[in-house]
Amino acid sequence: MSLLLKNALIVTMNDGFEVVQGDVSVREGRIAAVGVVPDAPHDRVIDAEGDYVLPGLIQTHIHLCQTLFRGYADDMPLMQWLRTRVWPMEAAHTAASLRAAARLATTELLASGTTAVLTMETVHETDAVFEAVAESGIRATIGKCMMDADADVPSRLKEHTRTSLDESVALYRRWHNTSDGRIRAALAPRFAVSCTRELLEGVAALSTAHQALVHTHASESRDEIAIVRQISGGLSNLAYLDSLKLATPHLCAAHCVWADDAEQEMLARRDVKVMHCPSSNLKLGSGIAPVAEMRRRGITVSLGADGAACNNRLDMFDEMRLAAMLQAVHHHPGALSARDALWMATRAGAARLRWSTTSVRLKSARRPTSSGFGGASRTSRLIQTPTPLSCTRRVAPTSSPASSTARCLSTRVRRPASRGRRSRSRPGPPHGSWPFAPVYNPLAVSVEEC
Ligand SMILES: [Zn+2]
Repeated sequence: MSLLLKNALIVTMNDGFEVVQGDVSVREGRIAAVGVVPDAPHDRVIDAEGDYVLPGLIQTHIHLCQTLFRGYADDMPLMQWLRTRVWPMEAAHTAASLRAAARLATTELLASGTTAVLTMETVHETDAVFEAVAESGIRATIGKCMMDADADVPSRLKEHTRTSLDESVALYRRWHNTSDGRIRAALAPRFAVSCTRELLEGVAALSTAHQALVHTHASESRDEIAIVRQISGGLSNLAYLDSLKLATPHLCAAHCVWADDAEQEMLARRDVKVMHCPSSNLKLGSGIAPVAEMRRRGITVSLGADGAACNNRLDMFDEMRLAAMLQAVHHHPGALSARDALWMATRAGAARLRWSTTSVRLKSARRPTSSGFGGASRTSRLIQTPTPLSCTRRVAPTSSPASSTARCLSTRVRRPASRGRRSRSRPGPPHGSWPFAPVYNPLAVSVEEC
């Protein structure tokens, strides 16, 4: 199977942030060439003039199992939201409903340009999620949620410590690096509130032994931090995780909204990765995460929608847009630029999930000219992109997202015709409509796979 995208504006997200006009050749699920592609037949050729081609987006904090709870848990803070709505619904999940939730979520994710996820599922029946995700074509690192503490948890979600650890190890052995490496497994203690000290210490030991990612929530809300301070004997949330030897480069900590200076220093020192979920933080009223500060300290911060129950959408373009705008409010416009947000949505996520990030090297390509996008050059160079994140609303895609080629895919997004030069083959959007529309989805390329 080979595919040629012709005449696209390619946002490579390579180390040089190069944006070039040219072609992308994909062969057997991998990028074969970018820029000027050698003249050779392809099974399928698509004229992408008027479109952007972006790397696949990577969401590093999500709960596929919560996709069926969309709109069910509105207008509540975190702990109430968990105890009265989300935990009872997770407890009610069956293998069939988990499979349906995962299928719906992966379809929605692929249709909106997300090609890889780090996801925390519920306590039980996680094999059903692995199976559904393996069928979907998306790349995923999946963790069975671990909960063994009495935090008003429904009985079906409360595990014995040993059982939780053993089941997580069994899933890891069964699923890690399957589907040609597309499916991986992680350890996923939900958060310090719902995990005993023994469980968290066991997770730290397993992570070290297996070099496994640990996916958890931390310092999301003030209520949560107060509970952790009680159960830890006065430690802050992140200091508690550090005291249990969990703060390592394997730790992926969602939110960190209330990480103070000392905690941020610790996160940077230990190379802990942070996942920012702006829509979720806003919906639950959790706060505005110190993203600009953490990035200044050298902490890798990536993005995620969290879950449909605390977002109501799974759209990474929303998360990029909100991430940038919240830091503008928190600091000043430009504190987190559009380019920063796109980096967090692609390269930072790839680094988080330990996927190869070898950059695209452009042998030769046409680059946009100052008057348009049709200029030709034998050398590519970095250009300022035409505000790629300033317009993030897109119409619903029309194509079926799940396909065998989805493991290597990106979003192709219609770009507005530049002033005085409209696309010959595709007219720009009608006045008043959204300027970007995904005209094709499960295609092609993710930069880190080249
Ligand atoms: Zn979450």
